[in-house]
Amino acid sequence: MTKPLDYEFKYLEEYGKDEEIFLRPDRQDRSSAAWEKLLALINQAAEEGWTEFAPGRMMPRDLWRQIRVLPNEIEQLTQVTHLFLYGSSLERIPPHIGKMTSLKEFTPYTSYGLHWFPYEITRCKNLVDSTVSTRALYGNYKNRPHFPDLTKAFNQVEYFDYAPTCSVCNKQVKNNEYRQVWISLSVATDILPLLANICSNACLEALPAPPESYIQEPHQGGIHQKQAITFWEQVLNKNEDDDEVE
Ligand SMILES: [Zn+2]
Repeated sequence: MTKPLDYEFKYLEEYGKDEEIFLRPDRQDRSSAAWEKLLALINQAAEEGWTEFAPGRMMPRDLWRQIRVLPNEIEQLTQVTHLFLYGSSLERIPPHIGKMTSLKEFTPYTSYGLHWFPYEITRCKNLVDSTVSTRALYGNYKNRPHFPDLTKAFNQVEYFDYAPTCSVCNKQVKNNEYRQVWISLSVATDILPLLANICSNACLEALPAPPESYIQEPHQGGIHQKQAITFWEQVLNKNEDDDEVE
């Protein structure tokens, strides 16, 4: 499958009903002053044991706006209980967030470029509170945008300086011998579209069940992926069930 011409690319922001959505590639400039500043802040936070990490409040506005991906180094922030990313230009969070094991509160609110999250965020077992902008999410219940089709190579997530381990069993995966799937799950107080790297059928089957009215199994997205049950479909189904009981 060849990559479509640029003008055919549609990301969630430009989404039109029944149009295919593409996954935005990593477009972080890692040679910028903004990136350096953020790395320095992470370093300082790790060394000084900060419990809140709010880089947008500690960087000049014009630098903060240039941050589209969080650095892998966030894995050092094991004492942070609140990750505050309000109003960011972020488009990706790396799986390394799963090592922020003290995390209780996750606030990426109004980060409209964040359409999905890494499955590894489910490893933050203390996470109880989240504030996510629902409309920005793939498969959200408000307007049910499609998920990018992961069977197409150019939609697959490639990580910067990271060889993925299986999102479920954490085993090292050799030479791209994993499958990427979408699954919507409850994370803290939101239902998030998560991207998982899966090493085997056993791990695929070990994924938890999604909440009601979301696609009920892991899937690879695409325009033909049947979306979850709508409210009205639920009502109709329920009425049918009632009829059967009578
Ligand atoms: Zn596995």
